[in-house]
Amino acid sequence: MSNDTFTFSTRLIHNENSVDRETGAVSVPINHTSTFHQFDFDSFGKYDYARSGNPTRDALEETIAHLEGGVRGFAFASGMAAISTAFLLLSKEDHVVICEDVYGGTFRLVTQVLHRFGIDHSFVDTTDLQKLKESIQPNTKMIYVETPSNPLLKVTDLKEVCRIAKENNCLTFVDNTFLTPSLQRPLELGADIVLHSATKFLSGHSDVVAGLAVVKDKELGEKLYFLQNTFGSVLGVQDCWLVMRGLKTLDVRLKQSQASAQRISEYLTTIHEVKHVYYPGLSDHEGASIHEQQSEGPGAVLSFRLEDADTVKQFVSNLQIPVFAVSLGAVESILSYPAKMSHAAMPQEEREARGIHDGLLRLSVGLENVDDLIKDFETAFEAIRKNKVEIN
Ligand SMILES: *Cc1c(COP(=O)(O)O)cnc(C)c1O
Repeated sequence: MSNDTFTFSTRLIHNENSVDRETGAVSVPINHTSTFHQFDFDSFGKYDYARSGNPTRDALEETIAHLEGGVRGFAFASGMAAISTAFLLLSKEDHVVICEDVYGGTFRLVTQVLHRFGIDHSFVDTTDLQKLKESIQPNTKMIYVETPSNPLLKVTDLKEVCRIAKENNCLTFVDNTFLTPSLQRPLELGADIVLHSATKFLSGHSDVVAGLAVVKDKELGEKLYFLQNTFGSVLGVQDCWLVMRGLKTLDVRLKQSQASAQRISEYLTTIHEVKHVYYPGLSDHEGASIHEQQSEGPGAVLSFRLEDADTVKQFVSNLQIPVFAVSLGAVESILSYPAKMSHAAMPQEEREARGIHDGLLRLSVGLENVDDLIKDFETAFEAIRKNKVEIN
């Protein structure tokens, strides 16, 4: 039951894997098997060994490929496994250009691992297309972007980046974790590979670690499949099932959280203790108009800056609702402290040069009642104000 005339939210529920062809089961069967019996001595079946392929994993891989508008999908043991495996498409002496506020784990991969294998990199503010063009070298093979980026929600013009990449015979990789295909489909804008931490919005319940990749081109798909099978960091079948379960509600979850994120970011701009709010849904956010052109919404993640680390500590200690944790994209609101969490792997100097201030907090808005969330924030700000008066 696959039909591109249906809208995205319908295709999340009704797709080629929504009904098991043999039994009619409306939930994909979990095939707990590591190997497959070959019925015919001379002609082996589609499956032989589960690292190379498993029907449950296939279902997830087909589903994400379809949702992203690609030809082939791949499921990995984590977002970092997906990203690392995609980077293995490069070879010694290749060079990559990477957006400067890239996810901390990707930063670590590039600077501390790939570097040892002779793969060189330049970090660039990819929102500045002139700088991007200048950073391309004769051996540049790939441009890697996250938009909106983490944690400052900077917006990169995907169409333009893909165009520049093509002009220079480079591939474009886009980490689409923050928006998911529900809000942004980079392959349609010219990207070659879309990467995901499915740990976040795609699964959506903070109960699984998973990664996905989707390619637009069959040949590139063959190469990535070879690497997935060789490197072997595939996603287990239980976790494939959890991601598929989460996907069914992706659109409603993300849109509800997005509406709350818009309300909360507008509320935060009125608060004296908040020095700046970073959210593509605010009209004065840098890149808001590009974001509007290339996506269907600002998403459910925002960041805001308080005075300093001490104010952050007081604020966090006085909150009741959001969990204070690494990660994002879940039913519960998650408040993260980038300086000590996602970007702890980045040296302080690099971090501050990228604008990741000690007063910066990132909020991934969940499905709680938005008035309750705002009330909770208000109580925490009141506590900061009261404490300030007492000190003075
Ligand atoms: C979490 C995250 C990753 C890494 O994914 P894991 O599933 O934790 O390995 C990569 N990119 C972004 C933008 C992320 O938020």
